[in-house]
Amino acid sequence: MPPSDEFSRIQEMMGACIQCGTCSASCPNEFAMDATPRRLWRLLLLGKTEEIFSSRTFALCSDCYCCTLRCPRGLPLTEAMEALKQMAAGDNLARYKNSLEFYKSFISSVRYHGRVNETEFMGLYFAALRRPLLPFRYAPLGIRLMLKGKVARLPAMQRKRPLESLFRAVAELEEGR
Ligand code: SF4
Ligand code: SF4
Repeated sequence: MPPSDEFSRIQEMMGACIQCGTCSASCPNEFAMDATPRRLWRLLLLGKTEEIFSSRTFALCSDCYCCTLRCPRGLPLTEAMEALKQMAAGDNLARYKNSLEFYKSFISSVRYHGRVNETEFMGLYFAALRRPLLPFRYAPLGIRLMLKGKVARLPAMQRKRPLESLFRAVAELEEGR
C-alpha cells in the first residue's frame, strides 16, 4: 500500500514520538500484538506501510486510552490507532475483514439496544463471515458463559433503539466534515 495523504496525516500526529516505550508498557493488549505500539510508531515514522498493514497490532487496539494518557509527549495514540483501522477498512484489506465485521456487528447491536446483546452480536458476526461451521467452535464457550449469566439471551432485550438520535447526530457531523 503506497503512502497516502491520510497516512501522512497520521505520521504528523505521531511525529514527536521519542520511542520511550511507555505506550507498549501501558497496553493491556500488547501481549497479543505482533509489533508493540512503540514499534508500530517507529514503522509509521519510517513510512513502512507494508509492515504496518501486514501487522495486526492496530486491529487489536481496544481503545482503552491507557497509552494516550501516559505518553510523555501527549500524543494522540488511540486516535492514530483508529485512523489506521479506518485506512485498512477503507481499502478493504482482506486481512482485516474479520475485525471489521466484528466491529460492525458490535455497533449494530449497541445501536439497537443501547448496549451490546452478546448473543445477537455473535449471531450477526457469524452470519457476516458466512462460515456456517464456525459457531460450533464457539458453542461450548457460549454455553458456559450463558450458564454463568455472562451472556444476555436474545428475548431479554427489546429493540427500542435508545441511542438512535445519538448515532444520527454523529453521522451528520461526519458527513459535514
Ligand atoms: S509513549 Fe509516546 S513517546 Fe513514548 S514510544 Fe509511545 S508514542 Fe512514543
Ligand atoms: S488505546 Fe489501544 S494501543 Fe493504547 S493502550 Fe489501549 S489497547 Fe493499547
